[in-house]
Amino acid sequence: MIISLKKNTPEAEVQSFIKSLEGLGVEVNRIHGTDYDVFGLVGDTTRVDEKTIRANPYVDEVTRIAAPYKKANRLFHPQDTVVDVAGVKIGGKEKVVMIGGPCSIEGEELTLDIAEKVKAAGGRMLRGGAYKPRTSPYAFQGLGTEGLKYMAEAREKTGLPVVSEMMSADKLPEFEEYVDLIQVGARNMQNFDLLKTLGKTKKPVLLKRGLSNTIEEWIMAAEYIMAGGNENVIMCERGIRTFERYTRNTLDLSVIPILKNKTHLPIVIDPSHGTGDSKLVEAMSLAAIAAGADGLIIEVHQCPKKAWSDGAQSLTPEAFAQVVEKGRKIAQVVGRDI
Ligand code: PEP
Ligand code: MN
Repeated sequence: MIISLKKNTPEAEVQSFIKSLEGLGVEVNRIHGTDYDVFGLVGDTTRVDEKTIRANPYVDEVTRIAAPYKKANRLFHPQDTVVDVAGVKIGGKEKVVMIGGPCSIEGEELTLDIAEKVKAAGGRMLRGGAYKPRTSPYAFQGLGTEGLKYMAEAREKTGLPVVSEMMSADKLPEFEEYVDLIQVGARNMQNFDLLKTLGKTKKPVLLKRGLSNTIEEWIMAAEYIMAGGNENVIMCERGIRTFERYTRNTLDLSVIPILKNKTHLPIVIDPSHGTGDSKLVEAMSLAAIAAGADGLIIEVHQCPKKAWSDGAQSLTPEAFAQVVEKGRKIAQVVGRDI
């Protein structure tokens, strides 16, 4: 970080400024200019808050050189992180992991049946929401614990690890018991208490990008979980809110090469929420694999028109099988497999 102080800043102010920075554990190198005093900060600047620095009336300019995240930073961890989700490895160079399942868990029989179908289609993991973040309080809110138990049952039956969304910190014990990968939904990406709680578990976390969050804010959310001690974080792009209305969200596939460059964390793409339209899911899935995604999470339902949530963006098991089949060919072109 480079900071310049205004001309004629009293020396006593300069000294107290340097002291406060050194108190944050960084080395401060002063360069006397003719008009400005410039300070180069060396060391770990993650604790130096740019906004606090700017609040000092003697500060003229602040330029951040290093990213504000450390644990997630590729610079300090050059090799790809591979997250092991109950035996299924996400990340690295080899496999693209296909995750399928309904938006909401709707009952025991349907869950066991869809798990079999996802597996037969080439899926390696089962998704399903038991706690649903719905816009309307009158919409179906999910089966709760009962739904998680059906997921665990489906895992016993098929061997597929399961992923489900956790909305509040007090539910951690049941997620630790029934779920293999804990999803943080887009609406909770900056629920910092939830992130801190997930820092204390060893269960892997699927961290969705917030509806209107920048990539840096998203990486900082991952940093919260990692700083708490849980480094098993998988990033998930699910589209962001833009002015466009032909799609539910705008799926930002540029995050794949950007995250690969900035971080070492695996990246999974959700083309279902990313588009909101089952007709667009296959094309965006193939594009995501071509761009280097480590996995895809896709909504699959036996009968999308009868789904209790997100039917319009859900694939039938047959359509999911086709995405897996075509996806495998694209994966092979980019030196991977499914
Ligand atoms: C979901 O996965 O069903 C979901 C609600 O996702 P998001 O948080 O991305 O909207
Ligand atoms: Mn959904």
